[in-house]
This record gives sequence, C-alpha cells and structure tokens, in this order.
Amino acid sequence: MESFDVAVVGARAGGAAVAMLLARQGLRVLLADRDRYGADTLSTHALMRGGVLLLSRWGLLDRIVAAGTPPVRQTRFHYGDETVTVSIRPRLGVEALYAPRRSLLDALLVDAAAAAGAEVRFGVTVTGLLREDSGRVAGVTGHDRRGARVSVRARLTVGADGRRSTVARAAGARTLRTGTGAGAIVYGYWTGLEASGYEWFYRPGHTAGMIPTNDGQVCVFTGMPAALFRAAAGERDDGGGAGGGLRDRYHRMLAAATNGAGGRLATAGPPLRLRTWMGRPSFVREAQGPGWALVGDAGSFLDPLSSHGLTDALRDAERLAREVAAGGPESPSGAFAAERDRVIGPMYDAVDRIAAYGWDLTQVRRHLLELNSAMSAEVEMISAVGAG
Ligand SMILES: Cc1cc2nc3c(=O)[nH]c(=O)nc-3n(C[C@H](O)[C@H](O)[C@H](O)COP(=O)(O)OP(=O)(O)OC[C@H]3O[C@@H](n4cnc5c(N)ncnc54)[C@H](O)[C@@H]3O)c2cc1C
Repeated sequence: MESFDVAVVGARAGGAAVAMLLARQGLRVLLADRDRYGADTLSTHALMRGGVLLLSRWGLLDRIVAAGTPPVRQTRFHYGDETVTVSIRPRLGVEALYAPRRSLLDALLVDAAAAAGAEVRFGVTVTGLLREDSGRVAGVTGHDRRGARVSVRARLTVGADGRRSTVARAAGARTLRTGTGAGAIVYGYWTGLEASGYEWFYRPGHTAGMIPTNDGQVCVFTGMPAALFRAAAGERDDGGGAGGGLRDRYHRMLAAATNGAGGRLATAGPPLRLRTWMGRPSFVREAQGPGWALVGDAGSFLDPLSSHGLTDALRDAERLAREVAAGGPESPSGAFAAERDRVIGPMYDAVDRIAAYGWDLTQVRRHLLELNSAMSAEVEMISAVGAG
C-alpha cells in the first residue's frame, strides 16, 4: 500500500494550501480531489485581509494580480439609503483586497502544492478512513474515476473536503455549534457595471453585494432568509424554477436590496447565467483528533454573508501547517483547534445574527462592527507569527 506523511482530501482553498505548506516543509504529501483541476464552484470570491495577507506571505499574490484580478481599495456599506465608505488602508503589506475567480485561485494553489512536491490526484473520491488497532486514523480509502480501489496510508489525514466532509463523518468529528440563521443567495456575473470596490447592501429582510472579479466582471449576489426563499421556490433546488422564474426573482430581490443601486444596474449587462445557494446554517466541528484534522468548510462553515470562508480555509491551512512543523504530523498538540476556536468564536456569533435576518438597520451595523473587530483580531493573530 502507498504511504505518505500526510493525505489531504479536497484540493481547493483549504486543502491545496495546507498541502503546499506541508510539502514545503519537505513532507511527503498526497492531495486528492474527486473533482477535476480548475473546476468552478459556488462562490462570490471576496477575500478578506487575512486571506490576502497569507497569499502574499506564500508568494502567490503576485500571480493573482498578474491575472488581472482588480484591486479592491474600498468597501461601501449601503444601509437603506445611507452609504458609509471605508478605505482599505495599506497595512502589513496588504495594499488592496482581491476577489479572484475560484478557477484561478484554487488552480493556483494546486499548482503551488505540486511545485512544492505534493502528489496531486484528481478524480479520486475518498469514501472512508483506515484505522490502526488503537482507533487512530491511519489514511484513506476510496476509488478513482474508473472505480479502481484506492488505499493510502498516512501519518496524518486532513479533511479539506468541504461542508459535507466525508473525513469529518468517518473520523467521528462532533458538531460543536450549529447556527440559528441561514440565508439563501442568488448570484451572477455582470458586465459594464461600475463598482469601485466591495459594496454591501442591507435592507430589512434583504441583502446584496457587488464584488469586482476577473475579466471585467462584477459578481452580484442578492440574499434573503433561506426559509422564505425556499417556501416561495417550492423547495426546488434551482431556487425558483428554470430560466425566467429564477431570473425574475433575482431581479426582484436585487431591487428590494439595492433600490436599483443609483441606476447603475439599469445600464449594465445582466448575467447570462445565475447560480443559487439555498442556504444552510453555519456550524463548527471538532477540528482534530488522533491522526486527523479538518480545515476550511470541513471543520467550520460560516454563512456566505460573512464573505469569510476562503479566509478561514487559508488561515486553517497555515495554522495546521505550523502545528505540524512544530510537532510533526503524528503528534497534534491541539494548538490548531484551540486557536481556530478562539478566532472564529466571535465571528461566528456575529455572522449567525446577520444570517438570521432578524435585524433592523441599526442592529445590522452593530453586527457588522462586531464581525469587523473579530476579523481585525484574526489579522493580528496571523501577522503576529510573522512570515514562515
Ligand atoms: C454562495 C456562496 C458564496 C460564497 N462567497 C464567498 C466569498 O465571497 N468569500 C469567501 O471567503 N467565501 C465565500 N464562500 C465560502 C467559500 O466558498 C468556502 O468557505 C470555501 O470554498 C471553502 O474552501 P474549502 O477548501 O474548505 O472547501 P471547498 O471549496 O468546499 O472544497 C472541497 C473540495 O473537496 C472535494 N471533495 C469533497 N468530498 C470529497 C471526497 N469524498 N473525496 C475527494 N474529494 C472530495 C470537492 O470536490 C472540493 O473540490 C461562499 C460560499 C457559498 C456557498
């Protein structure tokens, strides 16, 4: 049977990043994903400062900039008819924020993992875990695209396999927290839309966001409470019926959240295709146990209204890699899990309140301030440990 120091399941933000960092330490790393290289996924792409700081530290930000990803130098919060503009101050080497398409970001991280020496395999679906007699996790089992069995021994198995993590389930990771709120989101890519940074829109029961991304496009999402969205959509998975139904809903929701965004939407090119997220509550799972660890959405999932899942995944990757560097892949000290829980606790509370949509405009401002201060604490934590 093949043997690695670390087997990482899931090759996107969390998995590719941790595989890259561990391979850079000289460890023998397998990075496996059931999907294909460069595939797109549900996402509105916005990176927060902590995520940009890490990409810069790892020497990858230049490639995102070189790919023409537009710099975001300000954030505009629209509370009903009132707008508050916040400049992104250059700090800790971060001059601007970025929202790269996932086909760019994830592929770039996979390339970096491969360049660092990780063995990258797409089309591999992990279905279970190997265990030692003691119960300690000792690797993964699964199959490739042709159905051939795959079994790999590993001193550490990392689940970076997203919200519905097979690794978390097979390892028996307990759910520590489950959110009370959940928002549904519909989004698409606009052309010719003037957006001078991230723009977030809040009106009671409605949200929206404009996020400039690659190829001159602006990702525009609109959200509402998941329960109301589903009831109106009759639980259909496309969130509103094929074609025209969903499109009409999207534009109605967008109008309710933005009031037309000062006429900008009327003059821009609307999306050819829409994508729907039906909404699921946030959760936090145990982050590690004997022979296993979870990073990114596999370990903790924050409602997408946080725009923070990517930054969470990159931060987890860095923290877990640091723990492995200090103690080796076989002796988790628990520091990674403790740090993660400390940093996401306050963020989780604020995001859960925002995603519950039980706020008025004064309250949502307060929740956003809480979220902002939790993100500042995260940046302090990331920057405190310095480059490495
Ligand atoms: C609608 C929406 C909008 C969002 N917008 C933002 C945003 O603007 N900013 C932000 O920071 N975050 C956003 N997020 C959250 C962000 O997309 C996630 O937090 C992020 O993708 C998590 O990355 P990850 O690497 O942990 O997992 P994922 O991106 O979920 O990747 C998991 C990978 O694991 C693979 N996999 C799963 N199971 C198996 C298996 N059994 N065997 C092998 N491979 C497997 C999958 O194929 C996948 O490639 C958004 C999420 C949604 C739903």
